[in-house]
Amino acid sequence: MPTLGEVIEGAAAIAKGMSITFREMLSPAITEEYPDGPAHLEERYRGAHVLQRDENGLEKCVACFLCAAACPADCIYIEAAENTHEQRFSGAERYAKVYNIDYNRCIFCGYCVEACPTDAITHGHGFELAAYDTSTLIYRKEQMLVPLPETGAAPSQHNPLPAGAP
Ligand code: SF4
Ligand code: SF4
Repeated sequence: MPTLGEVIEGAAAIAKGMSITFREMLSPAITEEYPDGPAHLEERYRGAHVLQRDENGLEKCVACFLCAAACPADCIYIEAAENTHEQRFSGAERYAKVYNIDYNRCIFCGYCVEACPTDAITHGHGFELAAYDTSTLIYRKEQMLVPLPETGAAPSQHNPLPAGAP
């Protein structure tokens, strides 16, 4: 036999739950028009990756391999190379000559983003990754790198710039 206190506690819990139900019933319905209209994603949505540049336009990635080491799906492949006086790609000693992510394997866990010491890799909002040919799901650095501002080139449709990106 429940005590009076337990009955009151149960009634309060039901009332609290129903208040959320009624609030949602009275709020206006939101219909997503995707694919006829753009999908509305939360700011922190983890979509296809974006490789960022610094304020000088140099690649933020310094080829430290920490993202690849943190990746539980082993889907990041990097080849490092040295910057020279004639050819500089990043602000540090090394840069990623090759940077691939295999989206056949990526689980969008975000560990690579968390591991990166230079904030070089972030998640964009690109989610239209489906493909008939799985070999096209291996994204190369050129597909993920933020374009130089002066080129005016738009980012890949798969990799729209995240809000606040340079
Ligand atoms: S999001 Fe996760 S699985 Fe995908 S590349 Fe980054 S660490 Fe690997
Ligand atoms: S993306 Fe970040 S963690 Fe990965 S190699 Fe480049 S600098 Fe290192």
